[in-house]
Amino acid sequence: MSRLMKTFAAFFMAGSALTLAACGDTGAGGDGASDAGEVNIYTARHYASDYAIYDAFTEATGIEVNYIEAGGDLLIERVRMDAERSPADIVITVDAGRLWRAEQAGLFQAARELAEELEGIPANLRHPENAWFGFSTRVRGIAYAPDRVDANTITDFADLADPRFEDRICVRSSGNVYNQSLMAALINTAGPEAAEAWAAGIVNNLARAPQGGDTDQIRAIAAGECDVAIVNHYYAARLMNSDDAADRAVGDAVDFMMPPVAGAGAHVNVSGAGLAANAPNRDNAIRFLEYLLSEEGQRFFPELTNEYPAVEGVSYDNAVLDGFGEIEADPVNVNALGENAAEAQRIFDRVGWP
Ligand code: FE
Repeated sequence: MSRLMKTFAAFFMAGSALTLAACGDTGAGGDGASDAGEVNIYTARHYASDYAIYDAFTEATGIEVNYIEAGGDLLIERVRMDAERSPADIVITVDAGRLWRAEQAGLFQAARELAEELEGIPANLRHPENAWFGFSTRVRGIAYAPDRVDANTITDFADLADPRFEDRICVRSSGNVYNQSLMAALINTAGPEAAEAWAAGIVNNLARAPQGGDTDQIRAIAAGECDVAIVNHYYAARLMNSDDAADRAVGDAVDFMMPPVAGAGAHVNVSGAGLAANAPNRDNAIRFLEYLLSEEGQRFFPELTNEYPAVEGVSYDNAVLDGFGEIEADPVNVNALGENAAEAQRIFDRVGWP
């Protein structure tokens, strides 16, 4: 079985002659839909869990999965520009802030056929009218060096703004949607003034100028550059679960906690999907989304990508995630994170969080 991936740049230039990458058994010819048809997925994700789901779905249904991968904002822009000519059946992206932008751009239609499946997802992890839904979750938490930080002294994200953490914090830039959504959650709970005071405290406490992604912040803890870092849980879990001894050593050098944000609960965010507004293969898209939300589909996320399943009650095998403990989540509807994103960016700009 070959897995061909076209880069977004190549497909962007191909214009109307767009060809999608095919995943699944394309047969000897490998150039067309099977009898069962196909489904076109535009996705900002590029994870093992997703490829496993594409393969398993094709295996179960005979429906071929074509997918285009691109960064979230490029992906949204492409589908928006193509409008009713778009071949997209499903749009997948990470972070509620981006899902909100996609919905604002008119990318989705509600999939009423999924009413039963959507019941299994907590209501705060879906768009209020089910224009999109979270299918896996991630917690933005705190990685720390247990030999230099007493975990009992951090009971809330608010603590990181305290002067006792001066020169000890690593975090990526404010341009990243994960930080914007964290700030949006804080605005939602504590209001913009308190959110700005917190952000100013973090800037005061930075060990170095923001640089790199979440994994780089964890590596910086292991290297002794900082003592705490704000990161999504799966980056810590990936290092801890790594087959690579050097990466596992980095993972072993840190612990991870999921404290509340201003008392409201842990910051839970989603990867989400929606039925594209003009889905040419609508029936196949519904079948794919049903599979995505099935117990079998949901298990791929914790077991291959260290994310949590969004559907309640799904059991899985991942001892590192088990070790992170129960999540006491902020009950905010994640859609509100997108609504507060612009305010969040203004606050970052005012306090000088690059
Ligand atoms: Fe990520």
